[in-house]
Amino acid sequence: MEREALKLVIVGSVDHGKSTLIGRLFYDTGSLPEGKMEELRAAAQAEGKEVEFAFIMDHLREEREGAMTIDTAQAFFSGALRDYVIIDAPGHKELLKNMVTGASQADGAVLICSAYEGVEEQTRRHAYVLKLLGLHQTIVAYNKMDLVEYDQRRFEKVRTDLREFLQQLGIEPRLEIPISAKLGENVAQRSLNMPWYEGATILEALDTFELGPGAVEKPVRFPVQDVYELDGRKVAVGRIESGVLSRGAELLFLPAAKRRTVADILRFEESNIEQGTCGECIGVALEPAEAQRGEIGCDPNSPPRPVRSFEASIFWLAHGPLNPGEELVIHCSTQEAQSRIAVIRERIDSSTLECLERNAKRLEETEVGQVTVTCDRPLVVEKFTDVPELGRFVLVRGRNVVAGGIVTGTTNSA
Ligand code: GDP
Repeated sequence: MEREALKLVIVGSVDHGKSTLIGRLFYDTGSLPEGKMEELRAAAQAEGKEVEFAFIMDHLREEREGAMTIDTAQAFFSGALRDYVIIDAPGHKELLKNMVTGASQADGAVLICSAYEGVEEQTRRHAYVLKLLGLHQTIVAYNKMDLVEYDQRRFEKVRTDLREFLQQLGIEPRLEIPISAKLGENVAQRSLNMPWYEGATILEALDTFELGPGAVEKPVRFPVQDVYELDGRKVAVGRIESGVLSRGAELLFLPAAKRRTVADILRFEESNIEQGTCGECIGVALEPAEAQRGEIGCDPNSPPRPVRSFEASIFWLAHGPLNPGEELVIHCSTQEAQSRIAVIRERIDSSTLECLERNAKRLEETEVGQVTVTCDRPLVVEKFTDVPELGRFVLVRGRNVVAGGIVTGTTNSA
């Protein structure tokens, strides 16, 4: 059976060694194509440079940009138990954006903090985003131990600094590992220079992560992405976000509350399929046939309640501030509507976690707001922790994504 890959995000301040760690993980697990390292070494030599493991990351990026589809572009490395896919973005801002917008949904995270440079503002911001996204499977790698002479006291000092912040957030790291990404110490192989550390290597720690929670057991949610005409039949296509969808089942399509029967399930060049499982992209022929983009097919026995207003945490990404009452377009899964931030209950500095203001009138770039979002029509949203895809949204101003957010409550509905 094909092994399911675990999606991993590696975050931390610029220059603390993210690319180097990723390069090491690929190299040390033998996941690079044959001759690739020699090629990189020769290219570096020709420029009079020493080869850096971070170059592997650049190479993987180039390959991805040249690839035709997202699927073939994903780079995998193999652990003892499973494969891993690295979710990558060129800079920290893009990464934050990808993560909060759900362009990439990770199962686990490595927070990297250089023991040489220490905890920085960006380290804290990234930790905050992990928290915001409910990424509770986290390990912390204290990098560049070679630059601090493998000193245990230095490791403890930086660890204490970061731990205090993580504790405030309620993040409990699985493991805290002193490493040298550059020299490959405690990444895939144990370091001989840190006998005082007896814990797992990064690779061993990753193998303790679990794949996403049991979304299969949850009630069906099927957001309709598009409707196509196929062999004279109308077919609603989309991704099953939770549960298992069976042929013959009834679905309640929200927000209009229309009942339809699943007459057929189709995959690429296949029909008459009995079941589709969460995570799968499928087509569904319905009876009666009409369905439209933005509707959510739900288990009629436990449907969510469409709401016009809900509580959320948002991460403000735009240069200009959020102005009170301004109209923004909300995108949540396949749904789209006009919306406003009706109330900013708290304005929070994402680096220090300090509450800057209650009942605030604006949000500035990189700030987090505990807000109430109000929409011009009912939307199907659920708490992020229940159904991530229906609990995550972006706000768009003109053509720019200005904020990403997660739904924290839907009780305040109208
Ligand atoms: P990123 O910006 O977080 O991706 O950081 P990079 O991986 O590009 O690393 C930044 C710099 O730190 C590069 O020059 C690396 O060679 C160096 N570096 C990364 N890890 C280590 C390490 O464990 N030890 C030492 N001495 N240098 C490192």
